[in-house]
Amino acid sequence: MTSETTGDGLPQQPGARRHINAAADSDRRESERLSDLLELGLLNTRPEERFDRITRLATQLLNMPIALMSLMEGDRQWFKSTCGIEIKESSRSVSVCDHTIVHDKPLFVEDASRDLRFSHLPYVARAPYIRSYAGMPLHGPKGRPIGTICLAGYKPRAFSDRDRQLLKELADWIEHEFDLDRRIAAHDRHVARLMDRDPSLPVATRTIALERLDDVLMSRARDGQGSAVLHLDIVNLAHYEQTYGEQVARNTVASWLAALQDGAADFCYIARLSDTEFVGAVPDGEDIEAVRADCERQVDYANRAVSGGAAQVAFQVVGGLAVHGDHGRQAAELVSRARQAHRRADIRRGVVLFSETINRQLLRDRHIRRLFETALQEGGIDFHWQPLFSNRGDVLAGFELLARWHDSELGDIYPDEFIPLAEAEHNLSRALVEHALDTAAAQIAQWQAQQRSLPLPYVAINIPGREFYESDFYDCVAGVLARHGIDGRRLVFELTERSLIADFDVAARTMARLNTLGIRIAMDDFGTGYSSIAYLTRLPLALVKLDKSVVQRLEHDAVARELVRSIVDLAHGQDLGVVAEGVETRAQHEWIRSFGCEYSQGFLLARPESRAASCERVAAQPQEQPGPM
Ligand code: C2E
Ligand code: CA
Ligand code: CA
Repeated sequence: MTSETTGDGLPQQPGARRHINAAADSDRRESERLSDLLELGLLNTRPEERFDRITRLATQLLNMPIALMSLMEGDRQWFKSTCGIEIKESSRSVSVCDHTIVHDKPLFVEDASRDLRFSHLPYVARAPYIRSYAGMPLHGPKGRPIGTICLAGYKPRAFSDRDRQLLKELADWIEHEFDLDRRIAAHDRHVARLMDRDPSLPVATRTIALERLDDVLMSRARDGQGSAVLHLDIVNLAHYEQTYGEQVARNTVASWLAALQDGAADFCYIARLSDTEFVGAVPDGEDIEAVRADCERQVDYANRAVSGGAAQVAFQVVGGLAVHGDHGRQAAELVSRARQAHRRADIRRGVVLFSETINRQLLRDRHIRRLFETALQEGGIDFHWQPLFSNRGDVLAGFELLARWHDSELGDIYPDEFIPLAEAEHNLSRALVEHALDTAAAQIAQWQAQQRSLPLPYVAINIPGREFYESDFYDCVAGVLARHGIDGRRLVFELTERSLIADFDVAARTMARLNTLGIRIAMDDFGTGYSSIAYLTRLPLALVKLDKSVVQRLEHDAVARELVRSIVDLAHGQDLGVVAEGVETRAQHEWIRSFGCEYSQGFLLARPESRAASCERVAAQPQEQPGPM
């Protein structure tokens, strides 16, 4: 017998070196496996319905009492989802799944008590006397096995080909969920990187800026430091661009921002919200008036720094300031107050403190809300119909209803002003929804009655997200459909992610019920928010509407193109159609088509029009010849 010697001179068993190499190899594999597992970000998270549904289904399909979705971390097996047993984790050394993972192969055990590999395991040898096992490895983002979906039973049993196939399909389903998670995470990182590259670039997604602003405000508050939120708007940027060209304008904005940052008002944070808007946090000293004056000086300084010669057009910047604590706690609220401050103050220059104008603003809001209520009761709220076209052949596909209001005292009041006020009060919000539904349904009924051959256009209605949380919303909708005798497939409900509150399980349930009526749901204003990618995968949606702010950046902004391309890919991956809103130029339309968006809406194709005009448009559509039957 040959014997090998170790470094310390002790004799070693033959083959031990191979054993050491193999151990190093398996250590490496194990650590790669672990990093895949961590990248997935599922470990130690709460149970989720999407996985629980799969384990429940597994017990039914394979007719076994226990199903588990497990992730193997170090020497423990952790369960993300369980059905038929209450267990959080167990030791890897007594786990059958360990075999499934190590060999990266399906494992079917007909009777564990007769299998030497498993007969000694405590839950086989003693209560609850597990006998049968079926396990399928689950693979992480890089294709390495990180866990299993497995089933266990108390009786010995054989497994058919069908059982094996079903389990494979369930494992594929879970891996598909992993893949979605990975893509969502990658998209989030991508967007975050795009905006971090250069603070003078517009923040593709407003929510990121607000989240970061929130972080800054909170962490300063924790350290006992006060802050105020500054909102700045370069009101003549478009004019500047026309005069000097885009490239110059872009450089000027970057220098303007640098000048703003290196002055007295030391910004704690600054980000670009849109082409013309910036938000920042500044330290709030003893005297807020001094802070305001300081900001104003700073803005002046930056303006002068970028307008060298007398012949040049200077930037015209307006600003608003809102104090953290006094005027609100959340970044979104403070930004909106700061913005209101300079909008309402109607000042073309300087920085305005929110409190100076708050009374006027609130008074007008209250006044408008009262007038709106009356207008709604007396039939003063009307709708315009904006056509939507299929990008295949520019065929009329549908209309979006847009509320219109003319008041004898105040003149035209725009939805951007009255909708938020109306939506703040539930009875007003619901009354407007019912009015829109009724208007749409009456028109659809009329088109149905004309017995035109299909396809009839669909009608899209804007619905505030909160309605999806109201228990009687479904009944309200079903009632309108029944009263007018219309087909729900002719309706689309548009909702903005902004208006969805966090618990979207409830909203998803309402949507699914509306789906049963044939109604499709569209996610509106897409591309302006951040967390919204998750909505695409978790809500029963049919359509995504790209917001006009993104569409209008397509021509001149490669970042916007990248964003839209990735949104469209993601949407199509989920079988969702994509509508581009606010298409104003041929070039935008071409980009939209090239990305494969299904529908377009915008001034290039048609403006919002009266109901009569829309009816004429429908009547003028070429009729398909009805078949012989
Ligand atoms: P939205 O749902 O994003 O509607 C699209 C807005 O973009 C409309 O403004 C429309 O007139 C405008 N638009 C359409 N094509 C173009 C274009 O090519 N260029 C530009 N610049 N704009 C375009 P509108 O009618 O002022 O409505 C503003 C917002 O008010 C809507 O945004 C929607 O959120 C809300 N809204 C309007 N009507 C209703 C309603 O009946 N109920 C509810 N809840 N919200 C409504
Ligand atoms: Ca809309
Ligand atoms: Ca929009």
